[in-house]
Amino acid sequence: YQVPNWSSGWFRVSDQGQLEVTPAPGLHAPLRAIVDEIVDRGESLPVILRFPQVVAGRVRHLNEAFRKAIGEYGYSGHYQGVFPIKVNQRRAVVESVAAAGYEYMHGLEAGSKAELALCLAQKLHPDALLCCNGFKDDGFIKLALWGRSLGKNVVITIEKFSELDRILRQAKVLGVRPAIGVRFKLHARGSGQWEESGGDAAKFGLNAYELLRVVERLREENMLDTLVMLHTHIGSQITDIRRVKVAVREATQTYAGLIAAGAQMKYLNVGGGLGVDYDGSKTTFYASMNYTIDEYAADIVYTVQEVCKARAVPEPVILSESGRALTAHHAVLVMPVVDVTGPTRDIEEVPPPTEESHQIVRDLADILENITARNYREMYNDAAGDKQTLHNLFDLGYVTLDDRARGEALFHAILRKIAKLVQNEKYVPDELEDLQQVLADKYICNFSLFQSLPDNWAIGALFPIVPLDRLDEYPARQATLVDITCDSDGKIEKFIDLRDVKATLPVHEVGKEPYYLGAFLVGAYQDVLGSAHNLFGKVSEAHVFVRPGGKFTIDLFVRGQKARRMIESMGYEEPMLRDSIEDQVDAARRAGTLTPAQEYELLEDYGEELLGYTYLEYEDAGMEDI
Ligand code: PLP
Repeated sequence: YQVPNWSSGWFRVSDQGQLEVTPAPGLHAPLRAIVDEIVDRGESLPVILRFPQVVAGRVRHLNEAFRKAIGEYGYSGHYQGVFPIKVNQRRAVVESVAAAGYEYMHGLEAGSKAELALCLAQKLHPDALLCCNGFKDDGFIKLALWGRSLGKNVVITIEKFSELDRILRQAKVLGVRPAIGVRFKLHARGSGQWEESGGDAAKFGLNAYELLRVVERLREENMLDTLVMLHTHIGSQITDIRRVKVAVREATQTYAGLIAAGAQMKYLNVGGGLGVDYDGSKTTFYASMNYTIDEYAADIVYTVQEVCKARAVPEPVILSESGRALTAHHAVLVMPVVDVTGPTRDIEEVPPPTEESHQIVRDLADILENITARNYREMYNDAAGDKQTLHNLFDLGYVTLDDRARGEALFHAILRKIAKLVQNEKYVPDELEDLQQVLADKYICNFSLFQSLPDNWAIGALFPIVPLDRLDEYPARQATLVDITCDSDGKIEKFIDLRDVKATLPVHEVGKEPYYLGAFLVGAYQDVLGSAHNLFGKVSEAHVFVRPGGKFTIDLFVRGQKARRMIESMGYEEPMLRDSIEDQVDAARRAGTLTPAQEYELLEDYGEELLGYTYLEYEDAGMEDI
């Protein structure tokens, strides 16, 4: 499962085969024990485990990395990050960032009016920055200006030229002097999924001509001193550090150019982009990155300094808007496996052909017996042909249902035998490439992909998925995962691998004991982008604090959304639903299809479900039947 490769030290496998969270040196707690406590309390799964200590650790790591680089290079400015709350606006997350970031003057970034309203109410260091990005109307600008009156270090970033006049107008109306940033469209591009965020065709930002017009316009207004920040952003999850260096060089040249044009700049904001190594491969593959946080900080500080020296301009305060890297690690989605299906699962005992069996069934039995490492390809082709014929004959009425059942079971047994023969082969014939996936079990997990891992569905993002325990036991089965939505897209068929992407996940046989899978690194964007497909709502959350001695406390448990909330979000009202059911119950009573006792029970059950969790709720999470 590559835990040491992707966990960046925040998770580990214990000698007892338990997956543990390790939020600080000497602190560790097994995730299975945390989930068991949640279940013992009578709460239902799935659940998101949040570790605020991990958020705090990430904030410290980023800031310390910049401090170290600044110290080493003798850089005269400092670093001051801002957390873009769009990455995760959850209270637990924002407050953890704000608290851990206080000593580093770490601020926040808002991309909308609602986000700004939230940010303004946070307790930040008085010098921490509050950056306002995104398209802005007068209301947004006013709120930002009022923020300055409250003594907050609010900077309004211009994303398009017309915003400047809006800002100047509102500043005059309110009598508040703004602090202005400009977002510049670098010609440098990112790498990975979001490389379109940069470059000339980027959605946001000004080009060089517009940048100079901003300077001129502000000079005309005698307000050039309000232009304090240059902002750039070449996309999230930059996988290649060389792209960061190229972009920062261009940004610093632009910064120096603005100073040359007369602006008194102070802040250079290099935007987001700091990656997360989701697959542990440390490559430029989209789920990975070829650098560390320390290298990221060192390369930015070095590049800014180098350009500033060459251009003889003062070294700016460096900002980054890292969000993914601060929050991804802190959240784990725990999903119970509630059932297992698979093409061959229930027919591992192959019934032999009988005297009455059709010839084609006996042919398949012969193939099964005679497959060898030398002839498996030929045998596969024969078997595939026979299966096709079996189905054709069935359609025409020449093959019985019993023959069909035996024939299909034999065919799957043939596939299993071939899969064993080819598993260690370097070259696998084209027609057999998908064999592992075809034969894999489907582990049905109690969660919604659309609510909890939307990026996996939307853009094929990979998240490490690992059983929470039994990691000292060989996972003998291969599975793909399916969720409980009625949508065939609700499945996971790509898993992390050091060299490639795997089509199946190694898993343990599931028996009486509950079996839990954790999806890791889900703390960035997933909480926010999730959607209510099939009315599966927000998942319950446990905020877990790890204590010395392998102990932990669940400091806060927030129950997931109830069915009623989900239904109401679609425009219905609870009394309306209840009235309708009561009317129908009355009619059923009159028609004699409901006894008074059943009537009472039906209404009770209906009411209970309205208040219930939207996910499957089993009293016994184990699977005795399979
Ligand atoms: N800043 C801006 C302007 C962004 O658009 C984004 C996200 O794309 C971020 C910051 C966050 O970047 P990241 O996801 O790399 O942390």
